[in-house]
Amino acid sequence: MTTLQSFDARTGQPLGAALLASSAADIDAAVRAADAAFADWQSSEGTARAALLNALAAALESDREALVALADQESGLGLPRLNGELDRTAFQLRRFAGLAQQGAAFAFTDDPAVAGGPPAGHPAMQRVRVPLGPVAMFSASNFPFAFSVLGGDTASALAAGCSVVVKAHPGHPHTSQRVFGLVQAALKSLNLPAGLVAMVQGAGHEVGVSLVQHPLIAAGAFTGSTRGGAALQAAARQRARPIPFYGELGSINPVVATPQALASGGEALAQTLAGSITLGCGQFCTNPGLLVFQRSEASSAFVAQLVTALQVQQPHVMLTQGMRQALDKGTQAQLAAGAKALLHEPVAALQPRPFLAEVDAATFIAQPDLHEEVFGPASLIVWTDSVAQTLQVLQAVGGSLTVTLWGLNDDTPENRALVRGASAIAGRLLFTGVPTGVAVTAAQQHGGPWPSSTEPMSTSVGDTALDRFLRPVSLQDMPAWLAARHGQPC
Ligand code: NAP
Repeated sequence: MTTLQSFDARTGQPLGAALLASSAADIDAAVRAADAAFADWQSSEGTARAALLNALAAALESDREALVALADQESGLGLPRLNGELDRTAFQLRRFAGLAQQGAAFAFTDDPAVAGGPPAGHPAMQRVRVPLGPVAMFSASNFPFAFSVLGGDTASALAAGCSVVVKAHPGHPHTSQRVFGLVQAALKSLNLPAGLVAMVQGAGHEVGVSLVQHPLIAAGAFTGSTRGGAALQAAARQRARPIPFYGELGSINPVVATPQALASGGEALAQTLAGSITLGCGQFCTNPGLLVFQRSEASSAFVAQLVTALQVQQPHVMLTQGMRQALDKGTQAQLAAGAKALLHEPVAALQPRPFLAEVDAATFIAQPDLHEEVFGPASLIVWTDSVAQTLQVLQAVGGSLTVTLWGLNDDTPENRALVRGASAIAGRLLFTGVPTGVAVTAAQQHGGPWPSSTEPMSTSVGDTALDRFLRPVSLQDMPAWLAARHGQPC
């Protein structure tokens, strides 16, 4: 039997007993249970969906102390961050409860018949949406609550009327088990089938691949690395019946700043940026990994302030030893590709030091290795000579969750070109502040062109995340009873 071992993130020592990895039979049973539960859940009332999501939020909060302590041991992310993350997770569960209650999943287009022949005349049509079916949901390591068992994907899929099979992340298996225990208790207390939210876990990639390839799985929702997401997307496509795969992947999140913005922001802005680069030890998909500055005295002065601000930062340990090694490999690859270190204090410990390097635009554009995400407290400055060159740098990045644009206060042709160039590669543009921190709200877009996500037309954060799990169906000349359901599946 294959087992799965958790590790204490701070010591690297085994934590607790080894857990059993899910066998092929376990995965099959979990998916079949989710499929059986889907039969009723897909036509459930918004109030029933809201009751479950609210109960799950309350369950998380009721077990806060133990959950946060356990997640802290497994991730090393620290109590303040994890308490904040638990709050956010409960908030998003309640937000989707509100949306379910309001009937967001039942929104439909009513198109009454128009007399006469085509093309103007047409029969009565109603365009409704139906839930896809059981969703395979892959948790990320760096959000043990908000992008894990009860994270945004689970919340939005349940609100849409789908059942969920979670693939727990091997970086926090005990936390996942504990949250899953709360889910099962909540389902039981509401007389809902246990299979509505199932969970599998593994010690290797086979479990995730088998899950996404199970014939009864109708969609994949993934948060993690570009490499892992690409492998699972390929597995989803190789099926006899390929399915939608929503992958939220890695990103380098360029920060573009005019010399004037850097001059007026000064030391305070340098402190803010240093805080964002090192927040959570740099382990955020929205971490500012690329700083695109135009050469000027003001920009050089700002970089000196940034180095000073980074020097005093004390990032905590990384989530896993593997990630710690990947950070060193990533920074070495940048140096090998022509970047020059500005701040580089190699340490052998689990706890890394901030890294900052610089490179000219031409080298950056020519070296694909420099476009890769380096997961951790690291950032690369790219020096440009003009706005035109800045645009070429953005084009070379290709796809990002965010682009930050500081100093675009006036309506000028150059600023319009920057907004166009940034919109072409990213799902969210920020004009002040830093990209870390993603609001769970109506207008949020968390997902950009490849390699930051597999489906840039959709978002994994915010209200419209539930649209990913609904498929449109047109009802033509439908009977009165069906029209009277007003978009609620039967
Ligand atoms: P990860 O290593 O890709 O793991 C994510 C999941 O994919 C795990 O369940 C993992 O489990 C599975 N997996 C990984 N490689 C696989 C493969 N080749 N085949 C099948 N399954 C595979 O990513 P992570 O360590 O959790 O997170 C770090 C990354 O996530 C960073 O790049 C970060 O930027 C990104 N991230 C993105 C977002 C976003 O919203 N865009 C949010 C948070 C994090 P197994 O290893 O057990 O197979």
